[in-house]
Amino acid sequence: MAESWKESELSKTSDCRVRGLALCLFAILLAGPASAQDAVGERRAMMEEVAQMARTIGAGRQDVGPAVLAAMERVSRHEFVPLPLRIHAYDNRPLPIGHGQTISQPYIVAVMTDMLKVSAGDAALEIGTGSGYQAAVLAELGLRVWSIEIVKPLADDAAERLRRLRYRSVATKVGDGYDGWPERGPFDAIVVTAAASHVPPPLLRQLKPGGRMVIPVGAPFQTQQLLLVEKRADGGVTTRQMMPVRFVPLTGGHE
Ligand code: SAH
Repeated sequence: MAESWKESELSKTSDCRVRGLALCLFAILLAGPASAQDAVGERRAMMEEVAQMARTIGAGRQDVGPAVLAAMERVSRHEFVPLPLRIHAYDNRPLPIGHGQTISQPYIVAVMTDMLKVSAGDAALEIGTGSGYQAAVLAELGLRVWSIEIVKPLADDAAERLRRLRYRSVATKVGDGYDGWPERGPFDAIVVTAAASHVPPPLLRQLKPGGRMVIPVGAPFQTQQLLLVEKRADGGVTTRQMMPVRFVPLTGGHE
């Protein structure tokens, strides 16, 4: 009797251990990279793929400079995606972040950031904070960043995340980015990460002479054109179509 009691207790204990271990493994899988070291390796692999893609697409016309690649390699993208998707954090693809929005594909983030041709100390405005990932990449380049998000829960989460990850040079607010952030402008660089039907005039006004804006323009839920808008020293504006892209629409009162 005594023996069988012990046995069943024993098997209960080992059952518990097995279950505990399974739970633990599940949690690790959910958590994404098992260690900081794994994340570094995965990030490097992702950035190699991004650099390769940039060299091959359009015969290298969208080549991405080493400073941007290095900055992105320092950002823990797994911190910016929802927990169940962390295993995909270092795949070179967009991922849903809730509220029908997405964190952009790393390749697109790299290309758009590179087009801005920024230098440390520059002031940048981002429209569409989303997860805060693009803002973190700009901060890693030494920029002072102001970022606007129209969906309050996303804005709140991103602000908390950027604070926790100590991106102190990023300021965020909830609002309609169409109007820009005139009190903080003018900006050396403006990046719009949602598709607009046209270049918002307030954003153009808040761009410094010599500054650059990157913005997807076109119909919502279709392919748009990524535009590079440059304000010349004399205040004139040059606009170039850079590549086809697909972004979630710019919402608010002006779309
Ligand atoms: N840059 C983000 C991805 C942006 S997805 C990142 O790195 O994760 C586009 C974001 O633009 C969405 O979060 C969407 O809510 C936001 N958005 C759409 N219209 C907007 C507007 N008028 N003003 C500010 N943000 C807007």
